[in-house]
Amino acid sequence: MTEKSASSLIHLPVLPVRDRVVFPNVHVPLVVGREKSMQAVRSAFAGDRLIFVAAQRHMKVEDPGRDDLFEYGTVAEIIQLVNLPDGILRVRVHGRYRARLVDFSSREGTLFGDIQKVEVPSLENEDSVRMEALRRLSVRKFEDYAKKIGRIPAEVTSSLAEITSLDKLSDTIADALLVSVEEKQDLIEAANVSKRMQRLVEILDAEIEILNIERKIQMRVHRQIEKNQKEYYLNEQMRAIQKELKKKDDMGRDMDDFRSKIKEIKMPTEAEEIALKEIERLERMMPFSPEATVARGYLEWLTSLPWTNATKDNVDVKAARTILDQDHFGLEKPKERLLEYLAVLKLTQSIKGPVLCFVGPPGVGKTSLAKSLARAMGREFSRISLGGVRDEAEIRGHRRTYIGSMPGRLIQSIKKAKSKNPVILLDEIDKMGTDWRGDPAAALLEVLDPEQNKNFVDHYLDTGFDLSNVIFITTANSLYSIPATLQDRMEVIRFSAYTTDEKASIATEFLMQKELKEHGLPANAVKFEDEALRKIIHVYTQEAGVRELQRKIAQVCRKVAVEWVQATTKAKNRKTISIGLKDLTRYLGPAEFIREKITVNSVGVSTGLAWTDHGGETLTIEVTTMPGQGKVLLTGKLGAVMQESAQTALSLVRSHGERIGLKFPSFGKTDVHVHVPEGAIPKDGPSAGIALATAIFSSLSGRRVRKEIAMTGELTLRGRVLPIGGLKEKVLGAFRDGMKTILFPIGNEKDVPEIPESVRKSLKLVPVASIEEVFNLAIEPAASKQDAAPKRPVLRHPAN
Ligand code: ADP
Repeated sequence: MTEKSASSLIHLPVLPVRDRVVFPNVHVPLVVGREKSMQAVRSAFAGDRLIFVAAQRHMKVEDPGRDDLFEYGTVAEIIQLVNLPDGILRVRVHGRYRARLVDFSSREGTLFGDIQKVEVPSLENEDSVRMEALRRLSVRKFEDYAKKIGRIPAEVTSSLAEITSLDKLSDTIADALLVSVEEKQDLIEAANVSKRMQRLVEILDAEIEILNIERKIQMRVHRQIEKNQKEYYLNEQMRAIQKELKKKDDMGRDMDDFRSKIKEIKMPTEAEEIALKEIERLERMMPFSPEATVARGYLEWLTSLPWTNATKDNVDVKAARTILDQDHFGLEKPKERLLEYLAVLKLTQSIKGPVLCFVGPPGVGKTSLAKSLARAMGREFSRISLGGVRDEAEIRGHRRTYIGSMPGRLIQSIKKAKSKNPVILLDEIDKMGTDWRGDPAAALLEVLDPEQNKNFVDHYLDTGFDLSNVIFITTANSLYSIPATLQDRMEVIRFSAYTTDEKASIATEFLMQKELKEHGLPANAVKFEDEALRKIIHVYTQEAGVRELQRKIAQVCRKVAVEWVQATTKAKNRKTISIGLKDLTRYLGPAEFIREKITVNSVGVSTGLAWTDHGGETLTIEVTTMPGQGKVLLTGKLGAVMQESAQTALSLVRSHGERIGLKFPSFGKTDVHVHVPEGAIPKDGPSAGIALATAIFSSLSGRRVRKEIAMTGELTLRGRVLPIGGLKEKVLGAFRDGMKTILFPIGNEKDVPEIPESVRKSLKLVPVASIEEVFNLAIEPAASKQDAAPKRPVLRHPAN
């Protein structure tokens, strides 16, 4: 490396740089991309590696001329040169000394200049204290600057302490500053170290000042943003609070509503106190919390019950009679009993007394008569179905601790009735069950007891409600599954099965009108011929009541409605559709109940009578004997009592037959099979005793049973016939099935007047006391040998 004297010029390649100033005493990496510049670098690198680096006055100039470069720059040594893949160079230079570009030329595409070194005056003449002060000041200010600007590598700051030469120190700091090219150029041109440091401090001061202001502005902006954010957040909070307050407000309004309602409906004191306390509790709760929802539901229940609201009773017995007759055909006894009830009510002004229990098969008008009573008295009506209720809570409600808990059915129906004195029908009280969830019957006992129901406490309401003004009517199909304690509270009114005539009258006088109206048809749209109606009653339905019959009529009305809608003639000109026997299949499809009917006198087949929830039924009993080992076989799903009566009947026949001289085959070698068809239906009870004995006797003796005779009666081992229950139903069932003579226990003669006269007239009712009488009446006398042979029963479907 050759350094010439200060005055002499050296000829060096020139490297123009944009946007930066290269200082002596520092290492600088540069990227060189312009062709001329690369030539200059290569040319220098090939020689003594020195190059004059000058800053461009304007960054944008691509091919700088003499005037585009600052006059003063730095002679630097190229320490390293790397050819980058994209054809440009990366060099690392070390600034050697300050220099001035005296002349400038371009040769073979390379820039050259005549360069004059700028001498740095010695510091000997300077005030050393001042210089030290400048040194400290510049270092401190630079540190401050570096901290504030935050983008100066830490090693630059830390290296300063080691630099002893002020010349080098000032250049190192100048190089690190992030200031404009012009300001840096100032520092290059200041060869005098003292002046240069002075200028450096000034620049640092100015920069720090700018940074401080910048920082202040930033802080302010930041604070403003923070403030804005805070305001936004607070506003949001305020909105949320307002929303809550509004909810509270709404709730407050709700509470006011509750309060005024409580006053308005005049609740009993205890209930009122509870309600007011609940309102206070609710006011302290978060609205819409689950707890508040429960409390609100409770208040709604409390305030919607008719605590004092009652309808005024109309107890005009005569008017009531008219209404009951308007709604129902027949039912004389129940109607009479209801009128008595009304009369007593009128006299005593109190409904204390036994609860009425309507007992009878389904569809005989129990519910609708109760409804009529309510109508006659001007009371509201509400029905609670107890069928299948096993849980006490269904009657008495669930405690409010359950989610979704509700009052029991009684309170619910009171609410529905909107009056505290409705007629409540407790339907199917005999179908209630008992299990681990408690005994609903026990809860009902309290409800039906006039001493206790004045203050009936539902678990949900948790306060007493006065049920003493309610008229309760219960219904049941039969009494025997009702607990005795409950039966004790009730007075039974029996509803019996209807005869065919009664059903026909009910159909023409009531059901037809009801159904026609229901289907939007005029009253004269359909008419049933008597025969057709009877056939519907006999083979399309099999019931004690008229519910199925009503459904069949409805079915016909639907079909007629279709015809009516499709007809082209004007409504008023349409003729009444008359439904005869031949039309039934079209309207109702094929007949549903085809009864097996014994059509000839047969051996080993008798007709018994049974009584079910649906009314009376005939029961065919078949017996056959065969060689065997003296076994008895009972089939047809017979209950224990019925099995016992079969055994009794067999023993009786065995002993009795011999007594009257019948020669039976040796029992030890004969099996007897007793079968009661329709094996899927369970049958039980003692009343088939005489029918079983008759079939067994017939089978063993080979004598035929008369086909038109049906019988019912319990049998003792000595051959006595004991009374049975449900004679009327059984007789009606037998009559319906075409039997002509009915043998019944003499002990049941008292029940005969209950049987409708029309039926009595068309039947032979024969009371019997002993099995001999039964056999004499029901079994043909022994005839020819051929006849005496046991025959299979002959069964045939009736002709449609
Ligand atoms: P239950 O309560 O006995 O099961 P419902 O009272 O529900 O029977 O009666 C079934 C239908 O039969 C109702 O439409 C009812 O009006 C009607 N019904 C029953 N008996 C009569 C009757 N004697 N007169 C008029 N309609 C009757």
